[in-house]
Amino acid sequence: MSERKNELFIYNSLSGQKEKFVPIHKNFVGLYVCGPTVYSNVHLGNCRTFMSFDLVYRYLLHLGYKVRYVRNITDVGHLESDGDTGEDKIAKRARLEQLEPMEIVQEYTIDFHDVLNEFNNLPPSIEPTATGHIIEQIEMIKEIISNGYAYEVNGSVYFDVLKFNEKFPYGELSGRKIEDLISGSRDLDGQEEKRNSLDFALWKNASSEHIMKWPSPWGIGFPGWHLECSAMSTKYLGDHFDIHGGGMDLKFPHHECEIAQGCASTGKSPVNYWMHGNMLTLNGRKMSKSTGNSILPKEMFAGTNDQLEKAYSPSVVRFFTMQAHYRSTLDFTSEALNASEKGFERLMDAVSLLPKLNSSESSSIDVQALIATFYTAMNDDFNAPILVANLFDAVKFINSVNDGKATVSASDLSLLTKEIQAFVFNVLGLKLSEKIEESKLEPVMDLVLELRQQARANKDWTTSDQIRDGLANAGITVKDGKDGSVWR
Ligand SMILES: [Zn+2]
Repeated sequence: MSERKNELFIYNSLSGQKEKFVPIHKNFVGLYVCGPTVYSNVHLGNCRTFMSFDLVYRYLLHLGYKVRYVRNITDVGHLESDGDTGEDKIAKRARLEQLEPMEIVQEYTIDFHDVLNEFNNLPPSIEPTATGHIIEQIEMIKEIISNGYAYEVNGSVYFDVLKFNEKFPYGELSGRKIEDLISGSRDLDGQEEKRNSLDFALWKNASSEHIMKWPSPWGIGFPGWHLECSAMSTKYLGDHFDIHGGGMDLKFPHHECEIAQGCASTGKSPVNYWMHGNMLTLNGRKMSKSTGNSILPKEMFAGTNDQLEKAYSPSVVRFFTMQAHYRSTLDFTSEALNASEKGFERLMDAVSLLPKLNSSESSSIDVQALIATFYTAMNDDFNAPILVANLFDAVKFINSVNDGKATVSASDLSLLTKEIQAFVFNVLGLKLSEKIEESKLEPVMDLVLELRQQARANKDWTTSDQIRDGLANAGITVKDGKDGSVWR
């Protein structure tokens, strides 16, 4: 396995090229991914990003790396506008719902964890919160001020982008030129405290009605959103670490500002490889809550959204997202999901066949070469769709052996079984179909519903209700119709 470690290439957003992955410390990887701002239910587009980086994490583990995966929770400081204006998203939600901000944070952090768990994402090694790292953020601001790249005005601290740009290039990650940024920027309307409209807040002075605030050397206030990630990644991964990931929409200004803050406090660029995941669209359009073109994961698992024909299991949705490369956009439609569901079942059927296959003297194909294609795909910037295509070559072979049209040697069979199980379950993170579980339940449910039907015929409502309520407690709902009862 060790030589395969040396063949991994990652597309680095900073250089715009695929680069050979060389970790800073041999056999160890530091990975930071921007987590959610927990003020609403996590939507499918966010889930795709987190599944993409779950795949990255899982493959690095499969290659034998010891990975420290840090993914934060933003629970303060993320304002409605990128221009340091507007309300704090969490404080706003708390005001509208008349709750404590931390009640909002708790509710949506739990939702986030539940949904990612349904998708079989591995939890990160560390999940720091911004409110738990106010001291670290204040320390970093002090460093940036003492290095001359930030200034204080009326209890707020701003990053001086033009000063920074004299020594370090600003805009490198997003491919923006400082001159274009300056000419394209708005005037300082409402932000007169800033020397230049490109400057961004490291610390904001809090007004008296603001509820989420802390004491600092500059007065009572709260940290800027970009600073949180810099402080937390530095604390747990050091000032220079391997991989930083996030959604494409975070490249500018969020990640650009993270690079600037890192350089300004330590003198060096914080990250070697920047990775960005692409968007998920719904029926060809951007997902958006305000236009109604959006689906919550829970609605999809239950089949209660009008935009979908039926319910889809988390594993089918996960498999569907793995059929597009993480840097490509992916369009979510019932048609595409139905196709994925069929493919998923075909793959799982073949995986279940593996232990039942008979081995022969020799193999009719080069099994080692087939397995090598799994690694080639993933080593090429985590190319999951190619991996899936290669796994289907293996499915064809497994089915042929099962039909007696191909042969496999005992040693090849054990190797193939080990590698396919590793790639399907550990790397792609798929789970055996819930459908298979459901098929086991079906005869039992037929019997239970028949007994309930008899009770109803005898007007024994106590027994009939007892059965229905007992099933409800087990998560099974029964609907009575004129043609009998159906369950889900
Ligand atoms: Zn971030």
